[in-house]
Amino acid sequence: MYKSNEKMHDVEDQAIFAGQLKNTYIMKVMKFGGTSLGTPERMKAVAKIIQREEQAVIVLSAISGTTDTLHQITTLWQKEKSISDKVKALQTHYNAFIEALLQQVDLKKKALLFVDHHLSSLNQITRVHYSETAAKTILAIGEKLSTYLFGLLLCEHQISFQHLDALSFMQINADEEPDLPYITKRLTLELDKYTHTQYVLTQGYICRNAKGEVDNLRRGGSDYSATLIGAAIDADNIQIWTDIDGIHNNDPRIVNTTRPVSHLSYREAAELAYFGAKILHPTCVIPAEKKGIPLRLKNTFSPEASGTLISKNGSGKTATALAVKHGITAIRIESDRMLNAYGFLRQIFEVFEKHKTPIDMITTSEVSVSLTIDDKKALPSILGTLKRFGKVTIDDHQSIICIVGDHISVKSNTLSRIIETLQEIPIRMLSHGGSSNNISLLLAYDHHEMALQKLHTALFEEKIQSVSPILN
Ligand code: ADP
Ligand code: ASP
Ligand code: MG
Repeated sequence: MYKSNEKMHDVEDQAIFAGQLKNTYIMKVMKFGGTSLGTPERMKAVAKIIQREEQAVIVLSAISGTTDTLHQITTLWQKEKSISDKVKALQTHYNAFIEALLQQVDLKKKALLFVDHHLSSLNQITRVHYSETAAKTILAIGEKLSTYLFGLLLCEHQISFQHLDALSFMQINADEEPDLPYITKRLTLELDKYTHTQYVLTQGYICRNAKGEVDNLRRGGSDYSATLIGAAIDADNIQIWTDIDGIHNNDPRIVNTTRPVSHLSYREAAELAYFGAKILHPTCVIPAEKKGIPLRLKNTFSPEASGTLISKNGSGKTATALAVKHGITAIRIESDRMLNAYGFLRQIFEVFEKHKTPIDMITTSEVSVSLTIDDKKALPSILGTLKRFGKVTIDDHQSIICIVGDHISVKSNTLSRIIETLQEIPIRMLSHGGSSNNISLLLAYDHHEMALQKLHTALFEEKIQSVSPILN
């Protein structure tokens, strides 16, 4: 397919970037999360589920709990404390896992050797001083283990597959954003070798950064890997398999009468993911949305359930679902210089831009501006600079509750209903109209459970006494 001629390469590269050339026949992506791989039985169930598709790229997270333990190991290392108990716990867990997963002695041996090699590398890596780069190599171990073990399981059941190392194609740029043209080029070249392979197995979450070092797509990043791969190969469908039957209309860890949402738009799903719905990585909807690829969330514990479809078609509901994002800091800047001044907000935004800190919510009055951030890494330095503009106050331990719907902010009585429902709860900030899909509220962390519960009852459970059924 690829000519040796350099010029020809350029032409084909450009065509791949422009999405005009497809040299892979694999059209499906199936991603399985940690809970779907959490026990040997679950992993065996996943090996059955993939066979629903004739061909697919299979993206795996780490076995549940592994990335958390690896995180704890990096923290202990940074604090110069012993990691040996944690490493032993992983070793014991994986030994028992392998014992129950595989039958064939030679495959078991291979699995034990692989796990042993990676867990021993932990002791090796942590012998020297802590570095963030080396810590990221440690965090990558979880996905390496899960894909290798799953590969051996497929071997045992004679299911044909090829292993593709995510570090050979998944890349972020200097701004820590996925480099989709590069990913597309590399992945297309790789998959071109495997056009007749049934399954191509790769790790989610892990990637290389602009310096070529091992990095990751942040917590929950395997969802993002799946949608980036889907966008790169122009998949006709991306499936995200998890431990619940799709996106629910509220956080099921907080409210116990939640229900699955059958379908919603990319915009609705993106708002929910960004504002805390743990089921999806915050930015994973974007690549699927850009390419118009349907995203289906499915339950590995109940494969026949239809789950949730995310596509360009909205839910048709005024209120579709609620999500909550914690760890928010609100910053208020009060200054007379704002009066009748232009350019003031630009100067404020530039401070956040300089510190690569995204702003989530913003409200302004004549002489003050309030905004929220969730990334506090640069907060001391940001506050230092903002003080030049006026009086700066901060409120920590805040939460954003996001109410997502199909054109929610243009339906006249939704906002009044929300405010009426939350009468007793102090609302620090409110954002309405920024997007037609979302109304966001900022409140103290301590009030989030009560607020979610009350809103759930009002928006999804109470019969509305209204001529037009605005909340359906
Ligand atoms: P995986 O291991 O498959 O990536 P996650 O734990 O990342 O799974 O995400 C699934 C979990 O997200 C569910 O078990 C559920 O507790 C939680 N969750 C939070 N908000 C929602 C929501 N709105 N709908 C469904 N699940 C949610
Ligand atoms: N294993 C990674 C994590 O726990 C990535 C993922 O699960 O998607 O964050
Ligand atoms: Mg996840």
